[in-house]
Amino acid sequence: MPTIPAADYGLIRGSSTLSIDFPNELQDPDVELIEQDIYFSTPYGESPSFQYLSIKNTKGDKCYVLSCKMHGWRYNVSRADASRQVFWVLRAAGVARVLAEGGVGAMNHLLNPRDIVLPHDYMDFSVRKDVGLEGQYLLVMRDAICPEMRKTLQKVCEQGWDQGRIFDRGVYVNTDGRHFESPAEINAYRIAGGDIVGQSICPEVYLAREIGACYAGMYIVVNYAEGVIAPWKHEELADIYYHESLHLANLMLTTLKNLPEEKACHCSQLRKETLLKEIYNKEERHGK
Ligand SMILES: [Zn+2]
Repeated sequence: MPTIPAADYGLIRGSSTLSIDFPNELQDPDVELIEQDIYFSTPYGESPSFQYLSIKNTKGDKCYVLSCKMHGWRYNVSRADASRQVFWVLRAAGVARVLAEGGVGAMNHLLNPRDIVLPHDYMDFSVRKDVGLEGQYLLVMRDAICPEMRKTLQKVCEQGWDQGRIFDRGVYVNTDGRHFESPAEINAYRIAGGDIVGQSICPEVYLAREIGACYAGMYIVVNYAEGVIAPWKHEELADIYYHESLHLANLMLTTLKNLPEEKACHCSQLRKETLLKEIYNKEERHGK
């Protein structure tokens, strides 16, 4: 197994950029694909396939990126294990910021397909529990999505996306999948305060905090959630996935190029030493 190279950023690609040959199809002279199809050994099983890229940022400096597709999900690997493998690798690489993307359903009646939402908060309705690494930290989920990264995403999307509107805040409701939600479930999530629904912000947002990295995501509305506005059309969903991927991948890379090199956010202060250490240590001594 190869050793894990040092990287500044983790780039977790989702359904919106699945249909393209990333990053080659973008033909971006500032992006170099150093290696692809790299698999790493982790305590949770062999990692998904990673790519290792360099990107020249707007200051002309090179940054290094480890990227995986579809959140690391594969057949025969639980989503919890896939996420743990991804974040174990990103931590070993020394990644300080994680950027993700994906398609979501609109629960808020004001949203339309092709709008981009940069959520500021989330609610986890998945039943996956205990999805962490070693659990040695107390994870404060205030400002779970990095305000500084969101600001850069907003600027880049406002300049580079004219297929829909940009919303710089919103609440992402995470469900388990793999099926979509029922109209009654969507109604409950909407009343609870959710704007968009999807399956991938959790556990990524917790794991990012656990490894001490900032996290932010760019989510494109691909359909109306069940019972909202009108029954959604499969053709429109496919059209967004097949025809907007290049554009969305470009927005992701442009965001990485524009992130300030020095962080000015407080994300890293929201990971504290656990107060339960004594309990864990005692359990270990008793062989539990
Ligand atoms: Zn941050």
